[in-house]
Amino acid sequence: MTEPAKVNMEKIVSLCQRRGFIFPSSEIYGGLSSCWDYGPLGVELKRNIKEAWWRTVIQERDDMVGLDASILMHPKVWEASGHLEQFTDPLVECKSCHLRWRTDELKDNHCPSCGGELTEPRLFNLMFKTFMGPVEEEANVVYLRPETAQGMFVNFQNVLNTTRKRLPFGIAQIGKAFRNEITTGNFIFRSREFEQMEIEFFVKPGTDEEWFNYWLEERYNWYIKLGIKKENLKLREHTKGELAHYALKCYDIDYLFPMGWAELEGVANRGDFDLRQHASHSGKSLSYLDEETKQHIVPYVIEPSAGVDRSTLAVLCDAYAEEADKEEIRVLLHLHPTLAPIKVAVLPLSKKEALVTLAKEIHADLRSCWMVQYDDTQSIGRRYRRQDETGTPFCVTVDFQSLEDKQATIRERDSMNQIRVPISELKNTLQAKLEGEDLFILPPGGQVWKEEKRSV
Ligand code: ATP
Repeated sequence: MTEPAKVNMEKIVSLCQRRGFIFPSSEIYGGLSSCWDYGPLGVELKRNIKEAWWRTVIQERDDMVGLDASILMHPKVWEASGHLEQFTDPLVECKSCHLRWRTDELKDNHCPSCGGELTEPRLFNLMFKTFMGPVEEEANVVYLRPETAQGMFVNFQNVLNTTRKRLPFGIAQIGKAFRNEITTGNFIFRSREFEQMEIEFFVKPGTDEEWFNYWLEERYNWYIKLGIKKENLKLREHTKGELAHYALKCYDIDYLFPMGWAELEGVANRGDFDLRQHASHSGKSLSYLDEETKQHIVPYVIEPSAGVDRSTLAVLCDAYAEEADKEEIRVLLHLHPTLAPIKVAVLPLSKKEALVTLAKEIHADLRSCWMVQYDDTQSIGRRYRRQDETGTPFCVTVDFQSLEDKQATIRERDSMNQIRVPISELKNTLQAKLEGEDLFILPPGGQVWKEEKRSV
């Protein structure tokens, strides 16, 4: 991790806590190390990221299907996948303070915390162990999955038989994964419980290079489409020494997080390792009949594996901005409308009953389409700032004139420009603006209300 970016992590953490995006897990008990709870706005942001991914990789494609496999799997899965043997980090323990460290993170042979003497390295498996059933004995050990991928490999034949998909095709799923990480930190970047969005794309051997390049480009472009700045993304090829034991090739899509460049998503060519391993450990055939050659083949797999939490962090860091605004600082999140937790806020100019009634009617009408917030507390300026800080793309303001001319004001978050439109046109107009239409394309009867030229 190098080259720190401009946004610092303290500001992101503070905004997330202050505005209800993310809280430490079990906070009233002092928190649980590297576990996080997503609050009312965080859960919406995360849901929007997952939905955008699902739409792109499943809904809009012919060659992909979804899956939701269980977190607990047969222990043999982890034997076959290599996780029992290989999913380990070498660890040393300080003989004085007993803190444990990953050997690849040590500068010298002393404890980074107290300078004490260290033990010999010991391999430490990152999988969480638990017991199935009432008896806590070795025979009943099961693991919390450390990745969602294996659920897709073990269901390869089920999907093939029930969907009649032909190669190339893929399976995708979103779900929780658990890793007993030794070094955690950097907020939600590395936690012990997290969510993954993974694709296993099965292809004919020989076409794998082409599909690898295809998926790398697709996945990179997905982040760009969601508004992540190009200069904050880069591709990094794994060196031979870094490659996982099963991988023929791997690239990371790295993001420039506040602590430096780090992995957002990995795209790997896993060859036929997984299907062969599961076939040999289960005794079941996991091959595919190639209708052209009439031969049974074992497909190769291209795996784009993304983290929901890391995507959430990247989206927040990328969207965060501060602007000088008179004597104050305006904090805002330039979130892509697709991702914004709240799409529209409805704000009556004052708490006068007639205004509140009209604003509540508008709120009730709009909320059938999107997550919409109603707010009538504090000054209008403060309410705009509050919405800016949580990335709400549009505010609808109802004022005294609205009672007479049946029009309301739409204010845009980034430019702070305002247009005035008939209330009957609000829904259509907001729909078009949320899809990216220029604010100044007006519906019949609409007018430009206020244009503020500011540099963002
Ligand atoms: P790292 O090298 O950062 O530990 P990794 O290479 O082990 O990551 P993968 O096994 O490739 O990660 O997992 C795929 C994706 O899952 C990662 O790109 C990341 O987005 C996410 N991920 C992995 N481990 C964690 C974690 N501990 N916390 C949050 N997200 C994670």
